[in-house]
Amino acid sequence: MQNLEQFPEQILVLGLARSGTAAAKVLLENGKDVTVNDQAASFNDASVQELQKLGAHIVLGSHPLSVLEGIEVVVKNPGIRYDHPIVVEAFHRNIPVITEVELVSYLTQQPIIGITGSNGKTTTTTLITEMLRQSDCHVRLAGNIGIAATDVAQSVQEDEKMVIELSSFQLQGIAAFRPSTAVLLNIYEAHLDYHGDLESYVDAKCNIFKNQDAHDYLIYNADDTILSQRVVHAKAKKIPFSVTKRLDQEGAWTDGTYVYFLNEAIIPITDIVLVGKHNLENILAAIAAAKLNGASNESIQRVLRTFSGVKHRLEFVGTFQGRYVYNDSKATNTLATQKALDSFKKEIVLLAGGLDRGNEFDELIPHLKNVKAMVVFGETAAKLERVGREAGIPVIEHADGVDDAATTGFSFTNEGDILLLSPACASWDQYKTFEERGDIFVQAVHTLN
Ligand code: ADP
Repeated sequence: MQNLEQFPEQILVLGLARSGTAAAKVLLENGKDVTVNDQAASFNDASVQELQKLGAHIVLGSHPLSVLEGIEVVVKNPGIRYDHPIVVEAFHRNIPVITEVELVSYLTQQPIIGITGSNGKTTTTTLITEMLRQSDCHVRLAGNIGIAATDVAQSVQEDEKMVIELSSFQLQGIAAFRPSTAVLLNIYEAHLDYHGDLESYVDAKCNIFKNQDAHDYLIYNADDTILSQRVVHAKAKKIPFSVTKRLDQEGAWTDGTYVYFLNEAIIPITDIVLVGKHNLENILAAIAAAKLNGASNESIQRVLRTFSGVKHRLEFVGTFQGRYVYNDSKATNTLATQKALDSFKKEIVLLAGGLDRGNEFDELIPHLKNVKAMVVFGETAAKLERVGREAGIPVIEHADGVDDAATTGFSFTNEGDILLLSPACASWDQYKTFEERGDIFVQAVHTLN
C-alpha cells in the first residue's frame, strides 16, 4: 500500500486554484518541502496566506525556471498546458509531472469509482452518487465536479467509497491512480488545442484503466468505436453498455421499452424523467456502476423516477400553463444543442444565442425539424436567424437577453409544447457564466405563471 511517506520530498505545485491549493496543503501537512508557483494569485489571497503559514515557498507573478531547483516532482494544475515553459523544462530535466488526483492513491485505499468521457461526466457522476446514496452505500463525491479529490481522500472513512469525476487533463497526469470501477462514456473531438491530437486525447482518457487489474471493473460505451477498440487490452473485467445492442450476458442495455442490467429488467423507459438518447447512455453507465457497487433496483428506480437533470444540463424546470420548460444553458456549442433538440418529439420553441466564436451554425439545420419558433439573442443572433430561415422556421424573433427571450418564446408556445433554452454558444458576451444565464432564464420563467 502506498502512502505519502513514499512520495518525494521536494515538490513544486504549479498553478494554485482549488486543486493546487488542496495538494499543497496536504503535502505541507505531511512534512514535505513545497514550493508553489502561480502567475495570477496574490499574497493577499487567504489561500496563499494559509500555505505561507504552513511553510510553503511562494513564487507569484511569473514562472522563473529557478522554481525547479532541487524539485523531484511537479504537481501541475490540470488547466496548465504541457507546452508551458516550466512543464517543458521539467520534462527536459526528467522531473515527473503529475496532477492532483494522483495524490489520492497515496492518501486512501478505499474503492474509487472514476468517471470520464468527453460529455456526460457530471450527469453520470451525479446519478451514480444518488443511486448509491439511496441504497445506503456511503459515498463521497469529488474531482472535476468542483471538490478537490485530495480534500476528500484525506477524510474518507473505511466504509466509504469515492466517486470522482475525471477530466482528460487530470488523467493525463496520473501514474499510479487506480479506480476499482472506471466508467468511460464516449470520445468526441475536444480539447485538441491542449492535447495536440485525437490520439493523445484518447490516450489521456484511457489512462483511467491503465492501472486496473482483474479485480476491477471497466464500464465502457460499446457503441463508441474508438473506445471499443481501445479497451481490448484492458486487464479489468469489461462491462459494456449500449443503446443499440442486446448485452444480456455482458452489461447494461435497452430494448427501447426497458432498461436492463445483464438479463434483469431494471426500469421501464417511460418511468425515466431525464430525456434524450445521450442521457440514456449516461443512465446505462450509471446503472452498471451502481449495481456493481451494491445499489438496489428500488433505489435506482427511485432516482430515475425523480432526477430531472443536473442544473443547466437539459434540466427540466417544470410545467408552466401546460408548457414543458427545459434549461440547457450548459449547451455552449452546436453539438450540445443538437443533442437537446433530438431529445424531444413534441414541438419546440428554441431560445439560442451568445458569444460569437466565429463559427456558423449550419450543423443545427437537420435538428430543427420540431422547432416551430426561435428566439435569438446575443452576438450570434443574426447567424442563428439565418440558419433558422434556411431550416424554414416560420417565426424568428430577436430578444435583448435570456429573460426577454423567455417571455417572447413563451408567447409562441401552446399547451404541450417545449420551451427550450439551449444557446449553442458560450455566455460571456452578456453573462459572467452559463450558470448565471441559466439562473436568469429560470427566474424569468417563474414570473410567467
Ligand atoms: P460534462 O460534465 O462531461 O461536461 P454534463 O453531464 O455536464 O457533461 O453534460 C454537458 C452537456 O453534454 C449536456 O448538456 C449535453 O448536451 C451533453 N451530453 C451529456 N451527456 C452526453 C452523452 N452521453 N453523449 C453526448 N452528449 C452528452
